[in-house]
Amino acid sequence: MNEQSSTDNPSTAKAATDERPENKDFIRAIVAEDQRRGTYYGKVVTRFPPEPNGYPHIGHAKSICLNFGIAEDFGGVCNLRMDDTNPETESMEYVRALEEAIRWLGFEWEGETRHASDYFDQLYQFARQLIQDGLAYVDSLSEEEIRDYRGTVTTAGRESPYRNRSIAENLDLFDRMRKGEFPDGAHVLRAKGDMASPNMKMRDPLLYRIRHADHYRTGDEWPIYPMYDFAHPLSDAIEGVTHSICTLEFENNRQIYDWLMEAICEPPQPHQYEFARLNIDYTVLSKRKMRQLVEEKHVEGWNDPRMPTIAGMRRRGYTAAAIRDFCDRIGVAKVNSRVDMALLEFSIRDDLNQKAPRVMAVLRPLKVIITNWPAEKVELLDAPYWPHDVPKEGSRKVPFGRELYIEQDDFMEDPPKKFFRLALGREVRLRYGYIIKCNAVIKDPETGEIIELHCTYDPETRSSSGQQGRRVQGTIHWLSAAHALPAEVRLYDRLFTTPNPEEGDAPFTTHLNPHSVEILHGSLIEPSVADDPPGTHYQFERQGYFISDPVDHAEGNLVYNRTVTLRDSWGKSKVEAKAELKAKEKVEGVVHVGSRSEQRDRARKQNPELADRYQRYQQELGLAEEEADILSGALDLSDFYETAVNAHYSPKTVASWVINELLGELKERSVNDLPFESQAFGALVALVDDQTISAAGGKRILGEMLKNGGAPSEIVEKLGLRQISDAAALAPIIEKIMAENEDKVAQYRAGKHGLLGFFVGQVMRATRGAANPKMVQELVKEKLG
Ligand code: ATP
Ligand code: MG
Repeated sequence: MNEQSSTDNPSTAKAATDERPENKDFIRAIVAEDQRRGTYYGKVVTRFPPEPNGYPHIGHAKSICLNFGIAEDFGGVCNLRMDDTNPETESMEYVRALEEAIRWLGFEWEGETRHASDYFDQLYQFARQLIQDGLAYVDSLSEEEIRDYRGTVTTAGRESPYRNRSIAENLDLFDRMRKGEFPDGAHVLRAKGDMASPNMKMRDPLLYRIRHADHYRTGDEWPIYPMYDFAHPLSDAIEGVTHSICTLEFENNRQIYDWLMEAICEPPQPHQYEFARLNIDYTVLSKRKMRQLVEEKHVEGWNDPRMPTIAGMRRRGYTAAAIRDFCDRIGVAKVNSRVDMALLEFSIRDDLNQKAPRVMAVLRPLKVIITNWPAEKVELLDAPYWPHDVPKEGSRKVPFGRELYIEQDDFMEDPPKKFFRLALGREVRLRYGYIIKCNAVIKDPETGEIIELHCTYDPETRSSSGQQGRRVQGTIHWLSAAHALPAEVRLYDRLFTTPNPEEGDAPFTTHLNPHSVEILHGSLIEPSVADDPPGTHYQFERQGYFISDPVDHAEGNLVYNRTVTLRDSWGKSKVEAKAELKAKEKVEGVVHVGSRSEQRDRARKQNPELADRYQRYQQELGLAEEEADILSGALDLSDFYETAVNAHYSPKTVASWVINELLGELKERSVNDLPFESQAFGALVALVDDQTISAAGGKRILGEMLKNGGAPSEIVEKLGLRQISDAAALAPIIEKIMAENEDKVAQYRAGKHGLLGFFVGQVMRATRGAANPKMVQELVKEKLG
């Protein structure tokens, strides 16, 4: 027991790092900087803006923790706003699910729940203002024509023939759109962007469309609906949001965001920042795909315990604390990556180890008769709820009688030598009870199936009397047949059989795991739990963490969901564990290799060098626990990392590039099969570190190296990725842009500092993204004075 709990101990790596909010992630660093400069006069307002078209999932939890967490860290507030501008897919059920999930996670939003639909009137007025300022027009091209006119990534678009309608005509048409005079698709309102912009999103973005559909809040009041790109930024502005945080796929929409702020809002304007979406192996994080799973009945509902929804995870037995801890551990980065399910499991074990009392349940029972125990005699044995290293007290009495049940797995008729559980002629300890010895195996004469074991107990060995007596190698759990309660136990496994079900051409549902749930109807549990309410967490000794099902569990119908298995089932030797895996492989015809982190643990146990490195990476190189874990889990990867660090001594950055950029690309390949050496990888990181190239450039180079090998310094030149970090080279570019935009320079100098982004953007554009953006920002600021 001690052994098992100590592996579940929280990592200590975090304690060593600086916990000031601005050091937690790059967004908090920005917020802290804004606070220092007084950009928003000390205000911090964030928002969580879901579309109510499905239940929130663990990816949303990441965004919730970030937005609400920032508000908490900086003494600000976070709004909850339904981004409800698509009437067809939205509903009140989803609004409720979102509200409930946020509260359950432990956060409270500022004031009432807000809705973009509350702002429909204001948004409509903003749109009219844009028209009046000559910045928007009613377009009457068809959807297909609009697409065609937009051009492609490599060719500029063409301006719509309707682009130069007069302001009066535009206003008239737009007002009639609002009155419902036109059918769906007849007209749209578009911003006058730039049809030649390299950013496709800026090619006259759509602001409004006609949709004669009922909205779950505004009913049939509106025949037109604003688009995300219009409603979202302006809703932020209406609410006085300061930092508008979204995921990376909206990076190109930021230019529209800034354009609208410039056109409509007084400074200080909100700014948009993007962070990486969470992706987790063996599941899908998309409301649309989850809705498909529900509608096609692959799962039982949005709260099916196999679903990555907050509702499903909660029903599965995940705690809010564990999910928050997980979000904390994965951190907030600028680069998309996939997270190993094992990390989530680590967080939940860590939390439940402290919270879940230990009880005994037998999932697949095998009867045991203690032949030297009197028929009617029942003894009550003292059994603590908590292992020794959880500083909590409390115990219950478990009845011991002549007829018991043990787990079928805990008996083998003809076991290998290292099998330390029960076998014919061998002894085992019953947890909190006596040592028993198996003397006879009773089989069904027809099927040959084992139906009963006849054992004797040794009265000198009762453990709860403190007397213990002799020691034996194995301890197993058990229940008294006369007292055990029948229970249904649901064992959950991952929902998909492949790490990334969305990859490839096959529909993601083809990768569903047919064994994602196993329901055991004949399980048994100790009587002490009889009156516990639904939603109670337990550790079933040696089996894992379970919860009494929040939905189906009731008096007389006990139902338990397995939240997560234990990392190691104590008492089993390595040899046994291996033998079991082998047997399983044969039965299921699959190679079951355990979770990746279990594999890494095993590797370190077998190789002391790796175990040393695991320590050294944390203590000397300053890596986080999970980074050290990944990089010391296999010799080839670990060697790769070490030589890369030797080539460029920047252990943390190299670690993060290996983990975030390289591993995802490797898939099942070994680092030894790469077309380049680890030194070249170190050299690549060095180029990013010294700002020769941007991080994005670094990724492109890595992509090239993965394909064709080669030296990073040469690829930089070949792809023209060298970052312009030379003030002398940038100065003339900036001056030219200032000369071309004298009006904006004047506005900036008159206090419209929101224009800074415009200038930086122009420089980046002029250099085709090659300029070092930080330096550009500083230079521009200096020159604008
Ligand atoms: P989905 O694809 O699941 O529908 P979405 O981005 O369309 O996701 P929204 O309801 O619009 O869902 O999202 C609300 C907020 O949550 C947004 O700010 C979005 O960026 C964020 N979010 C959604 N999915 C993730 C994720 N996987 N990781 C981090 N944040 C996410
Ligand atoms: Mg969406």
